[in-house]
Amino acid sequence: MSKRVVIIGNGISGTTAARYIRKWSDYNITVISAETDHFYSRTALMYIYMGHMRYQDTKPYEDFFWTKNRIELIRDYVHEIQTEKNELNLGSGRVLPYDVLVLAVGSKSRFFGWPGQDLKGVQGLYGIPDLENMELYTQGINHAAVVGGGLIGIEMAEMLHSRHIPVTFLVREKSYFNHVLPPEESEIINQEIRDHHIDLRLETELKEVLGDDSGRIRAITTSAGDEVSCEFLGLTTGVTPNIDVVERSNVETNRGILVNAFFETNAPDVYAIGDCAEYREDGIGYRRLDQLWYTGRNHGKAVARTICGERTPYKKPLFFNSAKFFTIEYQTYGTIETHPGDEIGSLLWQSERGKELIRINYRKEDDVVIGFNLLGIRFRHALCEKWILEKRTMPYVLENLSAANFDPEFYTQYEKDIVAQYNQQNPGNQITMKPAKGLFSALFN
Ligand SMILES: Cc1cc2nc3c(=O)[nH]c(=O)nc-3n(C[C@H](O)[C@H](O)[C@H](O)COP(=O)(O)OP(=O)(O)OC[C@H]3O[C@@H](n4cnc5c(N)ncnc54)[C@H](O)[C@@H]3O)c2cc1C
Repeated sequence: MSKRVVIIGNGISGTTAARYIRKWSDYNITVISAETDHFYSRTALMYIYMGHMRYQDTKPYEDFFWTKNRIELIRDYVHEIQTEKNELNLGSGRVLPYDVLVLAVGSKSRFFGWPGQDLKGVQGLYGIPDLENMELYTQGINHAAVVGGGLIGIEMAEMLHSRHIPVTFLVREKSYFNHVLPPEESEIINQEIRDHHIDLRLETELKEVLGDDSGRIRAITTSAGDEVSCEFLGLTTGVTPNIDVVERSNVETNRGILVNAFFETNAPDVYAIGDCAEYREDGIGYRRLDQLWYTGRNHGKAVARTICGERTPYKKPLFFNSAKFFTIEYQTYGTIETHPGDEIGSLLWQSERGKELIRINYRKEDDVVIGFNLLGIRFRHALCEKWILEKRTMPYVLENLSAANFDPEFYTQYEKDIVAQYNQQNPGNQITMKPAKGLFSALFN
C-alpha cells in the first residue's frame, strides 16, 4: 500500500512539500489547515485590505488543482500528535493515521503581556482572521496606533493610511528597522513614513492599552508619558514559531521545532519545515530560524526530496529579502551589516531626491563583493547572487553594473552615477562601465 503523508499547514512550505511529493511519488498526500480551505499568499494580506486584490486573487492555484493532483485537503485543527501511535487528533474528533508527518505550522504573532492587550480592537497581523478583525475594528474610526518598527508594522501603517485613518506609529529604536538597515537606509525610510503623514514616534514604547466600558480600546499610553486616543491598535512586535501543536508530544522544541539538516525532528517519520522549524546546529547557516517566504518554499522542496527517498541535506541559499516601504522598494542580497567592522568597505550612493540608494559592501583585503542593499531601484536577483557566489571584485561588478538594472526600459539608470562616485573615491583605480548587455549573456558569460 502507498505511504500516507500528512502535512499540517497549507502555507508556502506545506504546499510546496505537497506539490513536490506528488511530482516525485505516488504517495497518498493529505494537507490539513485550520485557517483556510486553500493555500493563499500571506504576503499579499495587506493588498486585500487596501482593495488592490480580492482574497481569491491571492490563491496561486485554481481550486481544481488539488483534486487533479490527488492532494486531499482537510479544513480542521490538529489538537495533538501521538508520535508513538502515528496518529493525529483533530478538532472535529477525527483520528488521522500517518506514515510520514510534516509539520508546516508557521508562526504566530508575539505580544509582550501589555496591560489591556486583550481589549477589542487590539491585534496582530498574521492571517485571514486578523484581516477580518481589522476590517471590523477599523470601520469609521478616527485614529489608530501601530507598535513595532519591523516589516509588518510599516505594512499595517500603510494599510490604515490607505483608508485615510490617521496613524501614530511607535518604534522602540532610535530609527526605523535599524537592527537590519544601516543608518542611511533607515533614515530614508523614517522620512518616507513622515512624508505619508504618519505620526512616527521613535524611541517610544507602548506602556498600557486603555479601554472603554464596552471592553474596546480607547487610548494607549507611551513610555514618553503621552496618552494617544485610538480605537484600533496594531501590535506588530514580531512573530514566533508556532509550536502549539507539539506541546503535548515528545517532539523536541526550543524557540521552534528542532530539526537537523534533513528537517527531521527527534520523532521518527516526523519532519518540520518553514517558519516553525529551528535548525539544531549552526552548520546550516548563520540563522537558526528562517521565517521568510522563499525559505519556506526551499524547505518544502528539500523535505519532499528526502521523503521521496533521496535523503539530501539542506543547503542554505544566499540570503536575500525584499519589501516595500510605502513607495520605496527595498532589496537586499548577501551580507549587509548595520555597522560593519573596519575590514568591510561600503560604496554608498544616494540620489539627490533622497529616495534612491545603492550600497555595495566588499571585503577590503581582496575587494570581493559580499552584499547589496537597494532602495527605490531594482537590481536583478540572479545576477547579484551570481556575483556574490562567484566572489567577484568591486571593479568587475562596477564594470558590469549596467546589466544589473532590473528593467532598463522603465527605470531610471543610476549605475553611471555610482561608478563615477567610485572613481572619484579611488583615483588610482578608474572603472569604465561596459555597455549594457542582455541578461542572458551577463548570466552565462
Ligand atoms: C503580513 C505578513 C507579510 C509578510 N511579508 C513577507 C514578505 O514580503 N516576504 C517574505 O519573505 N516573507 C513575508 N512574510 C513571512 C512569510 O509570509 C512567512 O515566512 C511564510 O508565510 C511562512 O510560511 P509557512 O508555510 O512556514 O507557514 P504559514 O504560512 O504560517 O502556514 C501555516 C499554516 O498552518 C496552520 N496551522 C497551524 N497550526 C495548525 C494546527 N494545529 N492545525 C491545523 N492548521 C494549523 C496555520 O493556520 C497556517 O495556515 C510575511 C508575513 C506576514 C504575516
